[in-house]
Amino acid sequence: MTQLTNLLDKDPAQLVAYCAELGEKPFRAKQLLRWIHQFGASDFDAMTDLAKSLRDKLATRAFIAAPSVISDHTSSDGTRKWLLDVGQGNAVETVFIPEENRGTLCISTQAGCAVNCRFCSTGKQGFSRNLTVGEIIGQLWMAEFALRRAKGIEPGPKGERQITNVVMMGMGEPLLNFEPTVTALKLMLDDNAYGLSRRRVTVSTSGVVPMMDKLSQECPVALAVSLHASNDALRDGLVPLNKKYPLRELMAACRRYLEFAPRDFITFEYCMLDGVNDTDQHARELIALVQQGDNPVPCKFNLIPFNPFPESGLKRSNNVRIKAFAKVLMDAGIVTTIRKTRGDDIDAACGQLAGEVQDRTRVQERMQKMAEYQQKFGKDFGRIVEISS
Ligand code: SAH
Ligand code: SF4
Repeated sequence: MTQLTNLLDKDPAQLVAYCAELGEKPFRAKQLLRWIHQFGASDFDAMTDLAKSLRDKLATRAFIAAPSVISDHTSSDGTRKWLLDVGQGNAVETVFIPEENRGTLCISTQAGCAVNCRFCSTGKQGFSRNLTVGEIIGQLWMAEFALRRAKGIEPGPKGERQITNVVMMGMGEPLLNFEPTVTALKLMLDDNAYGLSRRRVTVSTSGVVPMMDKLSQECPVALAVSLHASNDALRDGLVPLNKKYPLRELMAACRRYLEFAPRDFITFEYCMLDGVNDTDQHARELIALVQQGDNPVPCKFNLIPFNPFPESGLKRSNNVRIKAFAKVLMDAGIVTTIRKTRGDDIDAACGQLAGEVQDRTRVQERMQKMAEYQQKFGKDFGRIVEISS
């Protein structure tokens, strides 16, 4: 029996090749792309401008499906979180954050993560596997059309788009799952699919230097770099990847990236850890790091209050400290935002939760438990929340 093909796995060029295999002209690929990504279609019979013979052919060889939803929770402020089953006891999270003039979707690229940052529970659970293209773009596909259905907005290019921005800040290190991530990015940008501008799609990385260069060549989008420390000794202990790509190399990679980037700054993410990286001295060291004499890295800082979990042994910096830290940066002329978080006491936040699925022996039980966590913690569930202005 031939294996069925998930058409969500295919980028525009691959769809053309797939149509050629079926003896179809290239324009069929464009039609398919629109049906799938602009209309959210999963049923070939609904694709009325395709010949019946092609629809029948597709129905026997292909399908269109995102990972199945384990749980789906909407908070009172409209933040909506889906927990998705990616098989073998692994689950990933997708979060929609509505704001006044935009809707941001935070998506995952891996189940688990091999980088193992000290403050991140996704890292603590180890690496399970890379998500496929279909599992990555499927998060956007599933979310966009679920959000439209909930509001009664028609599918298709005329319906009001719900997701205007995408950030790859869910589980996993996108640049360590490079090819599928880039393929998914290309679909996000394609006019026959989601047509998002490069400026509105952000890859967040812990600093995989060679892959930052590769991204700048293959698909430059907005870039966020998880910095978290102002010197190598500190960063070695927080982001182990720093031992391989230390700050000097990372800063140089940021500068190179900016030559191709759609935005003229890098966003540095900085997780605020009480007594670890949050003193005024650290802030001053950061300024020196990014301003480096006459060779600065144009940047903005996004301070993220640490989302604690028990095994970390770390604490969140208090709000007064975070504001004082932000002030030092701002006084030096660096645009700085503090990410709003909700729920101080959530060892059930996205990474934390997925840790529950690491042991593969009691899959159902763990899935159930995760769904319960989502119910229980409601709007406080999850790590990525709105970004303050
Ligand atoms: N792997 C990529 C993208 C996913 S992590 C990266 O590291 O950039 C997205 C962001 O969440 C990163 O900036 C990461 O440092 C931050 N993060 C991870 N664990 C956190 C926690 N417990 N509290 C607050 N932020 C956290
Ligand atoms: Fe991986 Fe990012 Fe978590 Fe570090 S912060 S362990 S890179 S997901």
